[in-house]
Amino acid sequence: MKFIQFRPEGIYCVPGDFYIDPWRPVKKALITHGHADHARYGMGAYLCHHFSVPILQSRLGATIQVQGIGYGEKININGVEVSFHPAGHIIGSAQIRMAYKGRICVVSGDYKLQDDGLSTPFEVVKCHEFVTESTFGLPIYHWASVNQQKAELQQWVNLNQSNQKTTVFIGYSLGKAQRIMQAVDGLAPLYVHYSIHKLNQAFQQVGIKLPAYQVIDFNADLKPLQDGIVILPPALVDTNLIRKIPNKAYAICSGWMAVRGARRWRSADAGFAISDHADWSDLLTAIQATEAEKVYVTHGQTAVFAKYLNEIGIPAEEVKTEFGVEDEALEDKNALPPETPEASTVASVNQEDPL
Ligand SMILES: [Zn+2]
Ligand SMILES: [Zn+2]
Repeated sequence: MKFIQFRPEGIYCVPGDFYIDPWRPVKKALITHGHADHARYGMGAYLCHHFSVPILQSRLGATIQVQGIGYGEKININGVEVSFHPAGHIIGSAQIRMAYKGRICVVSGDYKLQDDGLSTPFEVVKCHEFVTESTFGLPIYHWASVNQQKAELQQWVNLNQSNQKTTVFIGYSLGKAQRIMQAVDGLAPLYVHYSIHKLNQAFQQVGIKLPAYQVIDFNADLKPLQDGIVILPPALVDTNLIRKIPNKAYAICSGWMAVRGARRWRSADAGFAISDHADWSDLLTAIQATEAEKVYVTHGQTAVFAKYLNEIGIPAEEVKTEFGVEDEALEDKNALPPETPEASTVASVNQEDPL
């Protein structure tokens, strides 16, 4: 019997009769984390880590039927022993471990090995079958250390301050925005978009401490933002709202900033390759550490990455899923990576780029 199947509804645990991160409505859904491509509307019941409960309620509505579980806590679902383990991706993100008749399968959702200081750090879970993402599964993707990333953000704020510019960071509202807040806390007053504020509230509900900030009122005079630090979601790039902010310099924070070329990025003043996903070498490190004998690759650079795993002796298979449409994708198809990515340094300042 197959342990897991990739069905039109989502990833299905056969003996347990439940789905993980399904994209179509099902009765029972186990959720790895709160990003919209993994936690969708319409499930009969949701099970996720305690920290993800208020995130799911905030995004999907307070009336969903949702139950929380702690990391490492074991529950039995139709004879399958199920436990959630830290994935290090965002706060509350989990790899889901399933054990049945001596066989172990882990569905990792999205993950990263870097400790961002907010998410519970990634834990290696040994298994027979490992389901992995491969968002940044190409050797050109390599992240600087968290400390270096933080230093670069701070330097850029300082540069803008010396030029009397208001710093604007663009980062995904769930995960990235909170990391940016933490990295630049104390340099200047923080202002965030309402969508980020809503998720901050969900984090504060479970006891996560975040820096003090104010919510931007775009209907009010925006002059008080001068010399401050503004954090906005990617959906606001090239909109009238961002244009209303006077005298700004704005930077996009995304793993995609490791490559140049997409049209919209060029309108930004700077880019920082900061990601909540594992880079190429961390993907390989994580997969090798699981000692899995079979790997399924769900989203991202699936074909290339699965092929590479097979070449280095790890049996792997590309599977079709509906993940990866929102998180890190800058929420716009125009912002997808260029056809022929060209590696660049971590921070690329636009004015210095003749292209
Ligand atoms: Zn995600
Ligand atoms: Zn994802």
